[in-house]
Amino acid sequence: MGRYLVHTFGCQMNAHDSDRMEEVLRAHGWTNAESVEDADLVVLNTCSVREKAEQKLRSEVGKLAPLKNRKNRGLVLAVAGCVAQQEGEKLLARVSHLDLVIGPDNLAELPMLVADQMAGAPPRARTVFDLDAPRFLAAAPEPGATPVSTFVTTMKGCDERCSFCIVPYTRGPERYRPSGEIIDEVARWVDSGAREVTLLGQTVDSYRDPSLPPPASDDPDESQFPSLLRAIATRVPGLRRLRYTSPHPRHATAALAAAHAELDVLAHHVHMPVQSGSDRMLKRMIRRYTRAEYTERVRRLLATRPDMTISTDVIVGFPGETEQDFQATLDLVRDIGFVGLFGFKYSPRPFTPALKLADDVPEAEKSERLARLFEVAEAQTRAHLATLVGTRQEVLVEGPGKTPKSWEGRTARNEIVHVDGRPAEGRGLAGEVVEVEIRQAFKHSLAGELTAKAIELLPLESGVARPSRKRRALPLVL
Ligand code: SF4
Repeated sequence: MGRYLVHTFGCQMNAHDSDRMEEVLRAHGWTNAESVEDADLVVLNTCSVREKAEQKLRSEVGKLAPLKNRKNRGLVLAVAGCVAQQEGEKLLARVSHLDLVIGPDNLAELPMLVADQMAGAPPRARTVFDLDAPRFLAAAPEPGATPVSTFVTTMKGCDERCSFCIVPYTRGPERYRPSGEIIDEVARWVDSGAREVTLLGQTVDSYRDPSLPPPASDDPDESQFPSLLRAIATRVPGLRRLRYTSPHPRHATAALAAAHAELDVLAHHVHMPVQSGSDRMLKRMIRRYTRAEYTERVRRLLATRPDMTISTDVIVGFPGETEQDFQATLDLVRDIGFVGLFGFKYSPRPFTPALKLADDVPEAEKSERLARLFEVAEAQTRAHLATLVGTRQEVLVEGPGKTPKSWEGRTARNEIVHVDGRPAEGRGLAGEVVEVEIRQAFKHSLAGELTAKAIELLPLESGVARPSRKRRALPLVL
């Protein structure tokens, strides 16, 4: 077989799909190419959630076209991901040098589709949802090449239909993975060296276990997600940290809060998208909760651990958003005390219900609101990080830091910590949970040093030097 290159745009779900695509290709004898010049297959795994990501795809395709024509006539050029699903055949018609358009539910067919192209088949679009028999590509962790922190898919698609979002169109309705498969995959990752797993789903907390009878409760807010968290904690005891992304506030039930209070393996942090602090906007966005409901659910989570933190996503300049609505968002950001915030300017996306609403907030106003939002949010992040200086934090080290003498890891919440003291030899700290004394706070991260206790507990192979100790004289026994 040949050599492939997968280029990923967009979210964690796409990055996860790219990993699975690479595994499927490798299982069929393909190897990773160093660059596009020596690749026989280039896959652009696309995102259509934000306008910019789609623009990026167009520019990337434009760059590859001359390469395909001049340098490497045999190159197979494929587009996968949300733009592929959204545009399908139309993309083939618009971009003449494209060979393959493949949707997120058809990734297992990639080697076969590429083989057809190499044999001279005409360009093809394959974008069929697996509604009747949902398929989840199982990860194949490689011992020795396993990251400290990894992702495991629990579901795909979304039933929410927020008015600004194209995901229900590009990823289809919700389909869930049986809990046994999820737990086995978490266990496989841990056996091969991973220490932290993030469960991945568009609305990860709406999980229903297809291998169990439907829950007795008729409450649409009640999911089986807390049970899944408990089952993972019990059956994979070697797992050090468990995270999930992204939950929807509607499913952040009392049972989920109880799981946080009970399970030490769960991170002390939740990223809970709110999108707006104005009830009028939340209604127009079809988020299906009010500001008061969001606040109550988030406060319930915050109460589960003394050091629990929450971050969020916000859209500014949604159709009809007034200064008053925006002020309500700023007010909510201060009220909850988010320690992290991803903010975006609204942009109309194809096939979304919000297209019926006039995009009436001027671009300059959107930019100005976003800048004001970031100012408030960043001040909160800085203030939060400053409170941690002088404290001792448990840090899961993920790998080498940016300087030759540092490591990088995260706290049980989600703060990035640069840890001093990378040894010249030995396997170092990757995968260790170490106690770090925080010395400094930056804009988005912390820096600190291993405590004496942490150094004492480290395995010898880590290469970290222990402080020298005076040898105690043994009593002489005659
Ligand atoms: S919950 Fe809303 S924003 Fe999130 S993927 Fe579903 S439709 Fe999109």
